[in-house]
Amino acid sequence: MLKNDQLDAWDRENFFHPSTHLAQHARGESPNRIIKTASGCHIEDRDGNRLLDAFAGLYCVNVGYGRAEIADAIAEQARELAYYHSYVGHGTEASITLAKMILDRAPANMSKVYFGLGGSDANETNIKLVWYMNNILGRPEKKKIISRWRGYHGSGLMTGSLTGLELFHKKFDLPLAQVIHTDAPYYFRRDDLSQTEEQFTAQCAASLEALIEREGADTIAAFIGEPVLGTGGIVPPPAGYWAAIQAVLKKHDILLIADEVVTGFGRLGTMFGSDHYGIEADIITIAKGLTSAYAPLSGSIVSDKVWNVLEQGTDENGPIGHGWTYSAHPIGAAAGVANLRLIDDLNLVDNARDTGAYLNAAMRDALSDHPHVGEVRGEGLLCAVEFVKDRDTRAFFDAADKIGPQIAAALLDRDKVIARAMPQGNILGFAPPFCLTRDEADSVVAATARAVNTVL
Ligand code: PLP
Repeated sequence: MLKNDQLDAWDRENFFHPSTHLAQHARGESPNRIIKTASGCHIEDRDGNRLLDAFAGLYCVNVGYGRAEIADAIAEQARELAYYHSYVGHGTEASITLAKMILDRAPANMSKVYFGLGGSDANETNIKLVWYMNNILGRPEKKKIISRWRGYHGSGLMTGSLTGLELFHKKFDLPLAQVIHTDAPYYFRRDDLSQTEEQFTAQCAASLEALIEREGADTIAAFIGEPVLGTGGIVPPPAGYWAAIQAVLKKHDILLIADEVVTGFGRLGTMFGSDHYGIEADIITIAKGLTSAYAPLSGSIVSDKVWNVLEQGTDENGPIGHGWTYSAHPIGAAAGVANLRLIDDLNLVDNARDTGAYLNAAMRDALSDHPHVGEVRGEGLLCAVEFVKDRDTRAFFDAADKIGPQIAAALLDRDKVIARAMPQGNILGFAPPFCLTRDEADSVVAATARAVNTVL
């Protein structure tokens, strides 16, 4: 086995890490943790540290680590048929079965699944499909896409544009011109403190409608949103938000893409976030929880309404010119089938609901009264703590204060719990695997309270 310092040197010499401060990493100023193995909610590094992963990797290892059922399905698939493509009607038992399993679980108006590799490429696919659709329908000018500030939809050219976080635009010449942003449904940060949630929702809907009227509804193809804002700070929407937004979109004939990369397959305690909030999407994006990250796989679930136009389009224009070599990769599909079976067999969606409610209540009890905790919020197995300089004056920390990273580091150092310092710098996020027990939830909360009291 290679020595750690050898790996460390090779890492800094050769490995271009995503979402990393490259200069600090190269100088050895940032930690270089090499993960070796994992089981349940715990990962273990090469130094023998056992860490409770309260963010399930990047909120993706939903069934927990070390599931032999999925590993075996992957191995069997690799032995039998590691790869064949899915172009011009080809398929495998795994990909066909998985498409059926997804549609059996998806909202009733959904028709077909297009498979990709990750959330970003699935959202790129979605935008291309929407554009294609409007060209087929003879309205080529209806192309702009509305996304929300603080939304996260990936980091490709189009999806990085849809993402409403400055970090993902800065110095990349993004967003592209076809993307316009509307307000984040972020009640805690509302300007007018006298507003009820319902009034704030009405303001978000009015602001969306004003944007549509300014730009012209005949120039706007679709709106994309996560049921609960994820990377933008883990922010559940205010009361009535999705109903109000959908009413505006319907009125102006604008399609709705529900980005369920985080919420799909149970994280909110329902199979889809769309079920939880009554969202009637035209397209649903899925990724992470589809395979619990045992293999890369994503999907665009398209509704009957979209599918019918796509079919018409190929009758008029020939085969659809969109495909990835690895669309519906058999190994990813086999992982997906085993993963969805496991979620059913172990009732993991129910566990996400129940343990999620328990975790959120315990976190609220432990931290809501802390003078630097502005809000504890969450839904299902998503939970966030937002820190403020002063609760009464609503003076906020900014990213440069690095409160989130400091608390995450304290949490890791003392209690070996991994939470995610969200990119805003003042929010700590939790999204544990669905197999989290109440005892583990108690440990996460107790450790978080200790870390918060150490730093603040
Ligand atoms: N959409 C959402 C809601 C996400 O949270 C993410 C990733 O975190 C993506 C899309 C992009 O997925 P990927 O990183 O697999 O490209």
